[in-house]
Amino acid sequence: MQVSSQLQSQLFPKFTVAEVLKHLGRTKWESKYTEHNLTIEAWAVGIWIKEAGTIISYRQLNEYTRLASTEIASKLPVEKVDGGWWVKSRQCDDKHFVTTTRIGWTCSCMKYRCWRNRIPVELPMYWKVINGRPYCHHIVAAYLHNKSSD
Ligand SMILES: [Zn+2]
Repeated sequence: MQVSSQLQSQLFPKFTVAEVLKHLGRTKWESKYTEHNLTIEAWAVGIWIKEAGTIISYRQLNEYTRLASTEIASKLPVEKVDGGWWVKSRQCDDKHFVTTTRIGWTCSCMKYRCWRNRIPVELPMYWKVINGRPYCHHIVAAYLHNKSSD
């Protein structure tokens, strides 16, 4: 499995992997290593973390990512405009445009583009887990905003 550094940094950066391991109660590695030491390999069934001697399945990774995105999204300001939503970014004043198209929800941010372009090619197993519907916290924020204003 050859996953690009671009996709790895958007899908399972070291700090996310460390968080998922803690979330799953797999913390023995913490006595010897920090998250910076973790070596991560994409396997067919999930990501293998050598220092922790364990695999996080793609389903588990996605469950965590979805929860984390929802938590971030709930704090983001959303503005409904014609044809979509402007969602403010977390760290800066940037805004991202979210809209719905025939391929589903889309966003103008880098994470969304990375997921849409790279996951089907580099990690088709993960694409299956998300049912071919890439998301980012902006999309989740727009979705929540839309649901609550119905
Ligand atoms: Zn986005």
